[in-house]
Amino acid sequence: MKKHELPPLPYKLGALAPHISEKTMEYHYGKHLKTYIDNLNNLIEGTKFESMPLDEIVKKSDGGVFNNAAQAWNHIFFFEGLAHKPKKEPEGLLLESIELSFGSFGSMKEQLSKAAAAQFGSGWAWLVVKGEELEIVTTSNAGTPIKEGRIPVLCIDVWEHAYYLDYQNRRAEFLSSIWEVIDWQRIEDRFSVALLGK
Ligand code: MN
Repeated sequence: MKKHELPPLPYKLGALAPHISEKTMEYHYGKHLKTYIDNLNNLIEGTKFESMPLDEIVKKSDGGVFNNAAQAWNHIFFFEGLAHKPKKEPEGLLLESIELSFGSFGSMKEQLSKAAAAQFGSGWAWLVVKGEELEIVTTSNAGTPIKEGRIPVLCIDVWEHAYYLDYQNRRAEFLSSIWEVIDWQRIEDRFSVALLGK
């Protein structure tokens, strides 16, 4: 079977510092994400999942296969939404949708940060497409909106391993810093694809 692989990042491991350190990326990408992918490959060998693309496994599995597949999918989506020199603000249709849904870009960031800070324990905070609007969603553990067929455009990892080396228990500080490396070009591109899919 063709194994799932750790995808290359569109930036160097140290490129997101000081917001996310190289050390955090070495562990988060190089060890945590790699482990989810390795576990998934081991779990699906010889099963009906072995020939499926990652998103299909997420939608059709549960238990350990789901946990590792969803964590792999969520992390790839998270890391690909960040950039060394990100576009700092959304424009065009995405900006219009954000303003329609939340009033302003600043208000959206505030509400998403608040939801991410309030997520109890390990999980994720998401911006998810809802018709022409966007909605903030949080999920626990490996939970992901794609399991319900929904289309996310942005996610923030709030598992402690995402920030503990750099911020220890100060999740709110991580959440204010993360906006400095979120690439609105990537988020706009995802939103365009989502609109085309309708
Ligand atoms: Mn993580």
